[in-house]
Amino acid sequence: MSEPIAEQLENNDLHRFRNDFRRAVMMHRKGLLNFFFRLHFPNVDGPLDESVGTLEYLDFRHWLEEVPPVEVSGHWVYRELVVRQDKLSLLAKEVLDEAINGSFQPMQLANLVRALHEFDRFESRLDSGINLSLTDVDTLTGLRNRAAMERDLDREHERAKLTGRHLTIAMLDIDEFKNTNDEYGHCFGDVVLETLAQRFVESLRPQDMVYRYGGEEFLVLLTDTSLEKAAPVLERLRQRACKNKISDGKNNVHQSVSIGLAEVAENELIGDAIERADKALYRAKEAGRNRVELDHLDSDQI
Ligand code: GH3
Ligand code: MG
Ligand code: MG
Repeated sequence: MSEPIAEQLENNDLHRFRNDFRRAVMMHRKGLLNFFFRLHFPNVDGPLDESVGTLEYLDFRHWLEEVPPVEVSGHWVYRELVVRQDKLSLLAKEVLDEAINGSFQPMQLANLVRALHEFDRFESRLDSGINLSLTDVDTLTGLRNRAAMERDLDREHERAKLTGRHLTIAMLDIDEFKNTNDEYGHCFGDVVLETLAQRFVESLRPQDMVYRYGGEEFLVLLTDTSLEKAAPVLERLRQRACKNKISDGKNNVHQSVSIGLAEVAENELIGDAIERADKALYRAKEAGRNRVELDHLDSDQI
């Protein structure tokens, strides 16, 4: 089983690192070919640039242009990969020294091959973990996307049912966004979406999750939070969203959002709670936009 490496990481950082990592692994493979060449012909120069050194070629970190994002470097699969890498380099050095001295031990070569397999396993695990993370991320805003949202909602809903803890959902929709696109163009519209997504994340608490629901709509999931506790959190977000103008250096716009909130009731389907949050959002639009509306569930609605 693979797991996403970096669930909440900026998409661009992860993308860049993945490309960097894949390049580094390619160089590592070249290093291996060179290594086996040198093993067979210990006294002949290998096909690679010898100034770098065969063993340096084997260290994948040597070829990374940037340090890994902390979410990657702190992940146990990455740490494990580094340990395997060190083991591989050490064994390679021993085998190569023996080959050059003419005291080659077949047993050492078997250990080296095993270390190589282990390295490969963690390398592909890291790669697929990064891929999984990337497919969970919305490419424009860097937020988690709808597929990830659906998984998270199911998981958190189950958890809330088991523990009896509160779970609240907020639906957000940008106000009169069509006008922004019409007036300044779609590209600037995209800048507005990116900037607002950033402001949402900055104004929420670390435990709150924000997703791009679709188009110019977003969903916030507040675990272990009642409707009353969620209201000031979303009110702060609303204010933060429209406080400063959004600019691309050429165009500037104050952009507000409307928000609907609903707490998931006992025995309620998550889809029904989203619908109630959506209705509250509709009321916020009707009431003039740029506001937070709460959906208080009546006992006869349950
Ligand atoms: P309201 O306040 O009632 O929500 O008005 P609105 O104009 O925001 O609502 P409407 O649904 O009429 O328009 C939403 C607009 O959002 C239309 C669509 O082109 C735009 N939009 C959706 N996704 C994107 C996107 O990824 N980039 C850009 N630039 N615009 C988008
Ligand atoms: Mg909309
Ligand atoms: Mg809108």
